[in-house]
Amino acid sequence: MRNLDEFDHVQTLIATGKNDCAIARETGIPRTTIRGWRRRPPTKLVKLDRSSPCGVLHDFGLLPAGPYAYLLGLYLGDGNISRARKIWRLRITLDRKYPAIVQRCREAMAAVMPGQQAGIVGRVGCVDVSMHSKHWPCLFPQHGPGKKHDRLIALELWQQDLVSQATEEFVLGLIHSDGCRVVANDRGIRSVRYHFTNVSVDILDLFTRALDRLAIRWRRSTQRTVSIYRKADTARLDQFIGPKSRPVPWPCIELPAS
Ligand SMILES: [Zn+2]
Repeated sequence: MRNLDEFDHVQTLIATGKNDCAIARETGIPRTTIRGWRRRPPTKLVKLDRSSPCGVLHDFGLLPAGPYAYLLGLYLGDGNISRARKIWRLRITLDRKYPAIVQRCREAMAAVMPGQQAGIVGRVGCVDVSMHSKHWPCLFPQHGPGKKHDRLIALELWQQDLVSQATEEFVLGLIHSDGCRVVANDRGIRSVRYHFTNVSVDILDLFTRALDRLAIRWRRSTQRTVSIYRKADTARLDQFIGPKSRPVPWPCIELPAS
């Protein structure tokens, strides 16, 4: 695996105007790698760090904000990290009725862990999307023993930073896992409502703070449910969420080829 010093060195050489071949000759790093680094910073660059649980000092600022925020939303809604021998497995359980969400989840995982592909296992009524990595607990430090609602769920500063860069993606991930969009027809008048239900007070709080950041009004309809009723606000959510059967395109990101 390449390290951050190599990346920084290559960036310096790119800044001097050298082409990929010249940089490859000078550094011994393959030309295709350099071409990739020119287009998009890698997300898996590492520095060794003995104090870190996986032995690696992550630069979380290099993570792609959109896919990360979306995956974080899915994880907080319906995700789970478990250990299989020395490696960790992130599993997101999704409704099999919505293949567009399953596909988007796979794309988000592949963008966060370049070079890997998520696996799919079908179960009764649902689908598990999963990927193995020793870094899942680093990327989702909310991981811990027991149920999410029994422990404190608070975002690290670097996570807050990524979520504020891609707040809509975070809300989308939460709705795609634990939310729903309902179209009501009340005596001929059609209205759209969104509901998000979660047992964890902390996760409900993360959801409403994200809505506040987007200036979307909400109300607590039950102890465990946050609802969005007003027309202007549901119309705003429809701009980037809409029906769960509808594929939502990625805003301006390059996904690794699958
Ligand atoms: Zn790690």
